[in-house]
Formats: sequence, C-alpha cells, structure tokens
Amino acid sequence: MGLTRHTMDLIYVREARVASTRSALSLAPGEVVIGGGTWLYSEEQPADVTGVVDLMGMGWEPVTRSDDTLVIAATCTVETLRALPDSPLFQQCADSLLASWKIQRIATVGGNIALALPAGPMTALAVALDATLVLWTAESERRVPAAEFVTGVRATILEPGEILRAIEIPLASLHRTAFRRISLSPLGRTGTLVTGRTDTTGTTVFSVTGGTARPHRLAFDAPPAPAEVATAVDSIDDWHLDAHGTPDWRRAMSLVFAEEIRAELS
Ligand SMILES: Cc1cc2nc3c(=O)[nH]c(=O)nc-3n(C[C@H](O)[C@H](O)[C@H](O)COP(=O)(O)OP(=O)(O)OC[C@H]3O[C@@H](n4cnc5c(N)ncnc54)[C@H](O)[C@@H]3O)c2cc1C
Repeated sequence: MGLTRHTMDLIYVREARVASTRSALSLAPGEVVIGGGTWLYSEEQPADVTGVVDLMGMGWEPVTRSDDTLVIAATCTVETLRALPDSPLFQQCADSLLASWKIQRIATVGGNIALALPAGPMTALAVALDATLVLWTAESERRVPAAEFVTGVRATILEPGEILRAIEIPLASLHRTAFRRISLSPLGRTGTLVTGRTDTTGTTVFSVTGGTARPHRLAFDAPPAPAEVATAVDSIDDWHLDAHGTPDWRRAMSLVFAEEIRAELS
C-alpha cells in the first residue's frame, strides 16, 4: 500500500506522503494520518483534509513482547492481531468488525481505535485488557489508559498532531477472559459487546462497548455478586441510538451478557 492507493477519491487531497521517520510525523495543516485506509478511503472527507500521511512506512514491528507486556503497533493489521495465540479475545474482537477478511487484512488496530466508532472492536479489546495506549507526536510521547481514550462517537483525547503509536497489553490481563456480542442481523454491526476478565488476584473487569457512545470499564476487586454487576451496568448513561440498535435493547442485552460473563468467570 503506498501513494498510489485511491487518493484520487479524496478530491481535496493535494499531497500524499509516506512517513518513514519520526520527524516526518510532524503534520502540516490539513494533513491527516492513514493506517489501512479502509475508512478514510471509504467516505467523502471534509474539504479541510488536504493531505494524507501514510503510517505504514514507519515500519513498526506489528507485535513485540517483553516479560510482562504484549505491544501491538498501531499499524498492526487486524488480521495479524486475530492470529495471536495468547487469548481468544483477539479472534473474537477481530471477528466483531462488520467486515470480511479482506478488510481485516488491511485495517489497522490503531486506525480502528482512532476512528472511535461505538462499534470499534479494537477499542473493546484494549479496554477489556486494561491496555495502555502510547500517543506520539514527532517530539513527544504520553501514555493513557485505553478506557480514557475514546470520549464519544468519533471523539478521542488525541490532540492536534498527535497519533496513536502502540497498544501495550499487560500479559496478566490475558489470564482468563469471556466475551459476548450481539447484532441485529447475523453479520450486522455490533449492537453491544461485553467482555469480562479475571486475573490471579480475583480482580474482575468488565467492558461494555458497541452499544454506548464511549467505552465503559467496570472493575471489582473481587469476583462480584450478580446485583453488583447489574448495578454497575445499569449506571451506564450513554446507551446509543442508531441503525444498529435502540438504547433499551442495548441496555437489556448488556445486562444479560454481563450476568452470563459473571457466572462464566466465577
Ligand atoms: C465493510 C466495512 C465494514 C466496517 N465495519 C466496521 C465495524 O464494524 N466497526 C468499526 O469500528 N469500523 C468498521 N469499519 C470502518 C473501518 O474499516 C475500521 O474501523 C478499520 O479498523 C479502520 O482502520 P484503518 O487502519 O483502515 O483506518 P484508516 O481508514 O486508515 O483511518 C481511520 C481514521 O483513523 C485515523 N488514524 C489511522 N491510524 C491512526 C493512528 N495510528 N493514530 C491516529 N489516527 C489514526 C485516520 O486519520 C482516520 O481518521 C468498516 C469498514 C468497512 C469498509
């Protein structure tokens, strides 16, 4: 994938370049970064998007490991992540994209999270596993909990000129996980996606995404009772209304799934 890919469809784009050094990540006014391009090239873009900067030229290793952390580069494809053997959640979340293997092969983990759609399954994954997101500019770096990154539909905490560099997943989060998802049709976009996990200390963490405007992380120091989980899910106040589900249905299914997951993990 390089400069020849479909830039002709973005009629206001005057310049496309491939970034291969960190200093090349310094964005000029009107420039946006591109991962796989499966969304950027699928929709008309605003007139103020006048340049694209291709992150695939950075050559970041897709997956690296240390003793306690799995690091996924933002440019890692969903297909590569899907094949990771460490947890069933990788395949479950990859297959939650309303997209065929052709999209999985090109779409990047970072592009999915940065796009910040409610049905962003890589956001679900990162929140579920208590990942830390590494944010870069050409000169600076900061780390934020994944649960704080997406703040609403198509809204994130990224500052102008800042990009998502990597997703750091603690290996301890992969100990034991559970997953539930529903959509209005068998191959439809996510209505709600609920995950749960426990670690060796008994800490139990649920994530609720897909049916909410922003991701929700519900954490308990010890395995929770049914009423505790229900109360936590019921405290969510931003159930989303769109073509993929109504707020009432999303709330009801999330309550059912959270209780199923609680029982499965206990
Ligand atoms: C058939 C089909 C089905 C789809 N189904 C879903 C779905 O179910 N759920 C869903 O969430 N999406 C869906 N999408 C949208 C999109 O394909 C995915 O979200 C995909 O994961 C985006 O990744 P990408 O690498 O292609 O992003 P790109 O198109 O390259 O970029 C997406 C956005 O993120 C920005 N961006 C990309 N990488 C970074 C980075 N590292 N740092 C900061 N900003 C960055 C870009 O500037 C752009 O605004 C679907 C698309 C298609 C065509």
